[in-house]
Amino acid sequence: MFEDHLDTECACVVGGAGLAGMGFLFNALKTGVLPQLCRDGLIVVDASDRPGVGSLGQYRITANSVGDVFIDCLRDPRLASIFEPLEYSPAYWRIRRQADSAPPLAEVGELMAEAHRLVLEHIVKHFGVRIWHSTAITAVTWQPGEVHLLVETAGFERRIRCRALVLNLGGRQTPQHLCAGLAAHGLSLPAAADVLGSDVLLRMNAVQIRERLVPVLAAGRRISVIGGSHSAFSVLENLADALEFAGLQELTLIHRNPVRLFYECAEQAHAQGYDFDAQRDVCPVSGRINRSGGLRYRAQQIGREVLHNGRVGKTGVTVRRAQLQGGAPADLELAAQALGESGAVIQCTGYQPVLPQLYHADDTSIQLRQANGGLDANAQGCPQDQDGRRLDGIYLFGIGAGLAPDPQLGSEQAFEGRIYGVWQFHHTASSAVLEAVLARVQRLARKPEPARPSLVQTLDERMHLLLPGLSGKV
Ligand SMILES: Cc1cc2nc3c(=O)[nH]c(=O)nc-3n(C[C@H](O)[C@H](O)[C@H](O)COP(=O)(O)OP(=O)(O)OC[C@H]3O[C@@H](n4cnc5c(N)ncnc54)[C@H](O)[C@@H]3O)c2cc1C
Repeated sequence: MFEDHLDTECACVVGGAGLAGMGFLFNALKTGVLPQLCRDGLIVVDASDRPGVGSLGQYRITANSVGDVFIDCLRDPRLASIFEPLEYSPAYWRIRRQADSAPPLAEVGELMAEAHRLVLEHIVKHFGVRIWHSTAITAVTWQPGEVHLLVETAGFERRIRCRALVLNLGGRQTPQHLCAGLAAHGLSLPAAADVLGSDVLLRMNAVQIRERLVPVLAAGRRISVIGGSHSAFSVLENLADALEFAGLQELTLIHRNPVRLFYECAEQAHAQGYDFDAQRDVCPVSGRINRSGGLRYRAQQIGREVLHNGRVGKTGVTVRRAQLQGGAPADLELAAQALGESGAVIQCTGYQPVLPQLYHADDTSIQLRQANGGLDANAQGCPQDQDGRRLDGIYLFGIGAGLAPDPQLGSEQAFEGRIYGVWQFHHTASSAVLEAVLARVQRLARKPEPARPSLVQTLDERMHLLLPGLSGKV
C-alpha cells in the first residue's frame, strides 16, 4: 500500500520545462556537464502533459528576432545526432527558410517543441533524467543547503528534497501591477472597464477578439492599450486587424517612457530619421541603438507608423498617444480622459513570475524582491527575500524574472529592465545558472554510501504504474 505523501531526494530539480528550463538543459548537454548534474539525480517537473512546449508558440504574432536566432539554439556538434530527425521536419525547414526574417511565433513554438521533445527523450534514455509531467510545484521551502518542494500529480502530493532548484514556471500579469503603475502618475482604471492582459489577448484569434470587444465598441466606449513594449504594438495591430470592420476607428496608447526603436548602428538610425541619445541609447559594446529595449521587426514597423503617421500599419485605425514621463504637458490629461472613456483596457506592462508558495524553514512566507522588469536576482538568478536574504539554491531567469544585462555583452544605459529571450535562455543566462548549480550540487554532495536500492528509489521506479505523471518517460 502506497501513501499519498512520499519523499524523493535528488541533486537538482528543473521546475518548469518551458523555453527557459529547456534552455538550461540544452546548455548542460552542450557543455558536457549533464552527467555530473545527473549523478545524484535530476528531475524535470512540469505541470503540462507535454513538457517542453511552453507558451511561446501560442502567441499570434511574429517573433522579435530572425529565424536564425532560434536555429542557433540547436546548432551545436553535441546536439547534432539528437537533432537528426529534424532534417525531415517541416517545422524546422519553415524556420530555416526564414533565417533572415522574423517568423510567426506559432512556427517557432512548433520547432522548439519538436527539438525539446528530442532532447527530453535523449536525456531520459542516456542520463537517467526523470520527467514528472502533469505535475505542479505547489510549494517550496528554502533553507541554506536544501530546498524542499511539494508537488502534486492528479491530486497526489509528494515531496522532493534537492540541493538546487531551477525554477521557471512562466509569467503572469496582475491588474494590481497595472493599477500601481497608473497610480504613480495619479491615474486610475475606470470601475466598469474590461481589463484584459496582453498575454490573453495575443493568444486570441480575430473571432475571439471580436466576441470580447465588439460590445465595448457598440457601447461607444474607447479601447486603451497601456505599455510601450513589443506586446503593446503587437496588441495594437491585432486589435486593428480584428476590429476595423466592426467599427473601430481609434485606439489610445498610454506609455510611460519614449517609444524606442532598435537599429543595428547609428548610420542606419540616422538614415531612417530616428533621433537617439548618443550617450544613453547606444550599446558601448556593439554600437547598436536601443539594443535591449528597442522595438524590432514587425513591432518596429508598427511603432514607426504610429510615431510618424498616428496609424496602425496599413489599416485606417488611428492611435492617440499619451506619454506619461517626459511627454507633452497635455499628455497626462489626455491619458486621464481616455481612461475615463474606456470600456476596455489592455495591460501590456510586463510580467511577474509565476511562483509556488515560498517559505522559510520556520514556515514564514517569502516574498521575492522585485526589480524593474523582473526579480531582484544576482547574475546567477538567485533571488532575495523581503529582508534582502539571498536564496542560494533557487535559480530563476525565465519570463517575469529575467536577469540584469551582462556588462560584458553590453546593453544601452537607458535600459532599466531585465533581459529574457530564447537565445539568452540557451546561452548567457543559463550558462551563469549552470555554473552556479553545478558548483552547489558538488559542494553539498553527500559522501557515497554502499550501493543498495533505497525504498524511495524502488517506490519511485514503480510509481508510474500508479501515477502516470511520475513515470520516467516523456
Ligand atoms: C507575447 C510574447 C512574445 C515573445 N516573443 C519572443 C520572441 O520573439 N523571441 C524570444 O526570444 N522571446 C520571446 N518572448 C519571451 C520568452 O522567450 C517567452 O515568454 C518564453 O515562453 C518564456 O519561457 P519560460 O520558460 O520562462 O515560460 P513558459 O514558456 O511559459 O514555460 C513555463 C513552463 O512552466 C510550466 N509550469 C507552470 N506552472 C507550473 C507549476 N506550478 N509547476 C510545474 N510546472 C509549471 C508550464 O507547463 C511551462 O512548461 C516573448 C514573450 C511574450 C510574452
